[in-house]
Amino acid sequence: MKQPRILLVEDETHIAQGLIFNLELEGFLVTHAETGAAAMEAFNSRPYDLVVLDLMLPDSHGIDLCRQMRKESPQLPILMLTALGEEQDRIRGLKEGADDYLTKPFNLDEFLLRVHGILRRSAWYQPTVNKEEIYLFNNNRIDLKNLEAVTAHGNISLTELEGRMLETFFASEGDTLTRADLLKSIWGMTEGTETRTLDNFIVRLRKYFEDDPAKPKHFLTVRGRGYRFIREAEQG
Ligand code: CA
Repeated sequence: MKQPRILLVEDETHIAQGLIFNLELEGFLVTHAETGAAAMEAFNSRPYDLVVLDLMLPDSHGIDLCRQMRKESPQLPILMLTALGEEQDRIRGLKEGADDYLTKPFNLDEFLLRVHGILRRSAWYQPTVNKEEIYLFNNNRIDLKNLEAVTAHGNISLTELEGRMLETFFASEGDTLTRADLLKSIWGMTEGTETRTLDNFIVRLRKYFEDDPAKPKHFLTVRGRGYRFIREAEQG
């Protein structure tokens, strides 16, 4: 498994040192920046799996960094670190696309739980060792690890996004996933953007895996809400 890489933006040395030490113990690779300028330089030099972002920095405000990073990399998870009394900043930060926040002083275990939680929610990180990697339904055999599928219509190479979407559906079998859920968990987007992309993906999945894509029995539309995947087609 690839080690997740975290960009830690924190100017308070003693906090940063504690976080780096513990993140590395948990198997993460950590890049540390103490200023907004250093953070953006590090950000632009390579991809990260997560950014931990302190809001009060000597040369800039974390909210501005959050906005810039979100613009460059819409799906990148961002965990904000705020101080007590920064409620307005926290709300602004969440609006600017941060995924979660912690208020200082925070408990280290709580911090690590949040980090793992965010990474688990971001579908491109795959920490689950027991994930069902071969998925069978309706005469389809889908290999999520290698992004390959054997279907009634032939063999298919899946794109990473298709794989992510299938994984999301399979993990929530039977449940309605709202458009917002899907956009957020697959594209890291909020509702209102690029929703047609989502519909196009559903059309594609039906074409691959349904006997009759025009009459889907597995990737179902839930009118006005979103979509629902069922493994066993309902009778009738
Ligand atoms: Ca600070």
